[in-house]
Amino acid sequence: MRKLKAMISEAKTISVLTGAGISTESGIPDFRSTKGLWREDVSRMDVISRDYFEREPELFWKYFKDIFQIKLSHSYEPNSGHLLLKELERSGKDVRIFTQNVDGLHHKAGSGKVYELHGSILFAACPECGKEHHLDYINEQIVPLCSDEACQQILKPDVVLFGDMVRCFEEMYESISESDLFLVIGTSLEVFPVRQVPLDFRHKATLGMVLINAEPTRLDPVFDLVIHGKSGAIAKALAE
Ligand code: NAD
Repeated sequence: MRKLKAMISEAKTISVLTGAGISTESGIPDFRSTKGLWREDVSRMDVISRDYFEREPELFWKYFKDIFQIKLSHSYEPNSGHLLLKELERSGKDVRIFTQNVDGLHHKAGSGKVYELHGSILFAACPECGKEHHLDYINEQIVPLCSDEACQQILKPDVVLFGDMVRCFEEMYESISESDLFLVIGTSLEVFPVRQVPLDFRHKATLGMVLINAEPTRLDPVFDLVIHGKSGAIAKALAE
């Protein structure tokens, strides 16, 4: 913790990569840890794919809403982990957050530079006319259709599905190249292409790399500092 504190206080520009783990203390289960959603039903990976959406859009929406607990999403609040990142920004550091999460909690915490690599559950757009619809509208219907009378197409969630392109990847590489600290929080680093990122920067001498994760990952040896623990609790201890 002393080393983490020193690395953070020395850093001016911090790139952060977050995953589902940062939001578990807000009540949203992750996918891969021992109690995560993934182990309940592995076929989820097939369901939240572009291919499934195109073949079975109605069933897709049923499962999608279920997996991401869409009905509850208004009630989730940022926890100390999200808030610490906002606080670092407020203290004058240039903090750029690249998140694999789709829950919108970094925005809700008030962070200014948030890049959602996997999109957001808060929006869905019409594949035909492009009209964007917000979560409130999505929740009103079992299978949400475009509100444009002439269109009425089944909406596609803003979330990046398996088979879709991950977003903001170039911006992330550019940002990490300019940073003195790369902070990776709450991710199993199993999902490609994100798992490649720490590998690509491991030999950059001017960059400190820190991983905070509840469980060990296969990439632990690549980092300068690894803390196994809950990010919310660690953030609270740091803030104190
Ligand atoms: P993951 O489920 O693969 O891994 C989460 C990691 O976080 C695990 O290694 C676990 O040990 C760790 N973890 C759990 N609680 C933690 C805590 N309190 N503090 C620190 N670490 C903790 O998640 P991933 O690597 O982000 O990949 C999963 C994919 O699923 C992503 O693409 C993401 O879009 C999606 N997803 C998003 C959410 C969300 O938006 N909140 C939730 C579930 C899944």
